[in-house]
Amino acid sequence: MTNVLPGEAELQLLFARLNYEYFNGEVPDCRIRYNERFSNSAGRTTYGAHPMEIELSPKHFRQYPEALRETLLHEMIHAWCYAKFRDTGHGPRFKRKLRECGLHSIYHDLGTVAPLRESSKRYILRCERCTFETLRRARPRSPSSCPRCNKSRFDPRYPLTIYEIVEVRAAGTSVDAAHAARKGSAR
Ligand SMILES: [Zn+2]
Ligand SMILES: [Zn+2]
Repeated sequence: MTNVLPGEAELQLLFARLNYEYFNGEVPDCRIRYNERFSNSAGRTTYGAHPMEIELSPKHFRQYPEALRETLLHEMIHAWCYAKFRDTGHGPRFKRKLRECGLHSIYHDLGTVAPLRESSKRYILRCERCTFETLRRARPRSPSSCPRCNKSRFDPRYPLTIYEIVEVRAAGTSVDAAHAARKGSAR
């Protein structure tokens, strides 16, 4: 892959622009950096750190550069929800903000009713070509491809990659989700 990713200084500028455009500047300062070690998720927000940290997977975005803005926005919504409401999930607040930012996502389908069993994990798989998303209960064992981009058969050109691992816990109010990659940092 020869795609050149924006540098971290450029990401910081993009952050500032999005913060102004969608959040009225309310997202607290975040340090944005690439983390080469991420191989199976696109990004992560660490709440415990000061400043908060947003890490993005260079591997993922070298392949799907056009997904960068949307993922940064997604992580910024987490940072905003946390700063304002100490909310780390994909609940109603997250979804409302997601809609305001013009993003459409399967998170809307996660529902707001507490699940029956506690700690049920969901894997959000995504095709970066057409942004098709689907939910799985288990980590896929074999590569799968996008059913929208190729309806008839497995097609390695359109892989479904794990976008996020969401943990749905039996919380009273709503879906309480946390990125699995955040354990230890989120609270
Ligand atoms: Zn998320
Ligand atoms: Zn697709």
